[in-house]
Amino acid sequence: MMSNNRKKEEENICRECGRAFYGRRDKNFCSLECKNRWHNRVVRERRRVRTETLAQISRNYKILSELLAEDKNSASLQELAKAGFDPAFATGHRKGSCRHDDYSCFDISYYRSSTKVFNVRRRNAGGR
Ligand SMILES: [Zn+2]
Repeated sequence: MMSNNRKKEEENICRECGRAFYGRRDKNFCSLECKNRWHNRVVRERRRVRTETLAQISRNYKILSELLAEDKNSASLQELAKAGFDPAFATGHRKGSCRHDDYSCFDISYYRSSTKVFNVRRRNAGGR
């Protein structure tokens, strides 16, 4: 039994420190310390991406709200980018039947072409 398991041990490369070690083929780390370090970094990175994504969506929402507050329902992407708008972030997206797609940022919906955002409106009528 022991010798059988022994045969399954192979040289692996630790995903954290890159050192070679012997162990079961599906082992990814040379030590518990490396495993924990790797896991902590993954968790930290996921948290960072989530925080930055939420911040960008909030920024987009603020910019779209300001547009509506100024009684505007369209703007060029170039102009919006200067204010910090990033079109890659939205809370909803539907493929449009025309040349533009339908996007939403919480309760604000808008159409987007390659150059502009237009028909910006609140999903529920009633106040800006
Ligand atoms: Zn290691």
